[in-house]
Amino acid sequence: MLGAIIGDIVGSRFEFGPAPEEGFDLFTDDCSFTDDTVCTIAVADAVLNGKSYKDALVEWCQRYPDPKGGYGARFYDWIFSDDHAPNNSCGNGSAMRVSSIGWLFDEWEDVVEEARKSAAVSHNHPEGIKGAECVAEVICWLRHMRFSKNDVERKVQKFYGYKLPPLSDIMRIGSEGHFDSTCQETVPAAIRCLVDSSTFEDAIRLAVLCDGDTDTKADITGAMAEACYGVPDEMVERAVSYLPADMRKILCQFYQHIQDEIG
Ligand SMILES: [Mg+2]
Repeated sequence: MLGAIIGDIVGSRFEFGPAPEEGFDLFTDDCSFTDDTVCTIAVADAVLNGKSYKDALVEWCQRYPDPKGGYGARFYDWIFSDDHAPNNSCGNGSAMRVSSIGWLFDEWEDVVEEARKSAAVSHNHPEGIKGAECVAEVICWLRHMRFSKNDVERKVQKFYGYKLPPLSDIMRIGSEGHFDSTCQETVPAAIRCLVDSSTFEDAIRLAVLCDGDTDTKADITGAMAEACYGVPDEMVERAVSYLPADMRKILCQFYQHIQDEIG
């Protein structure tokens, strides 16, 4: 979960800002948490505190109505609608918020089922649901060491039909003007960044250097990279300093829960 939040914060200043360059600073004054973190916290709050996914997402997004970069237009309408009915979205919002589910449920069947439910309240297009299921299941595989990072490419193609683009096709250093915001674009790209990475930081850097929807791509890559490598303490400290107290409270509750479960 912190892996996702770190990716979001590191990627946040490039989403609508200058294109990233190699060797960019990870944390600067221009960084902030964005909608990815708000929604990630909401999904964890739902599971940890027995709220429905819909209620928790509405509660947290209404509490933070204007994070850096804002919300996607359709999701913003969903947050402030009267009935919060799902709108057939295949946006990457379903995949960027799902990371805690990969940890809070043990069996992969439960992980996939909960990921589906967490997506379906707003992103009920089949691709929106698939993106969330896939990211949560990859986290589950990696943390249980069921499959290694090197197996992930083959397994996501087999189980989800995702063909990962080569890194050279998605690296767009210095190019501007593209924006990849669907699950079917973002999730395979994020998995490629994980598969080709050598450390947690390397995974985050690759995702940001792919440009486009930098915060969300880095959020999804970071979520999976945490399950693969763990997260360096100094990056945790820097990232948490950007978060308000109510978000830190959910994070503490999440890691306490994981620690109690794993022992
Ligand atoms: Mg964002």
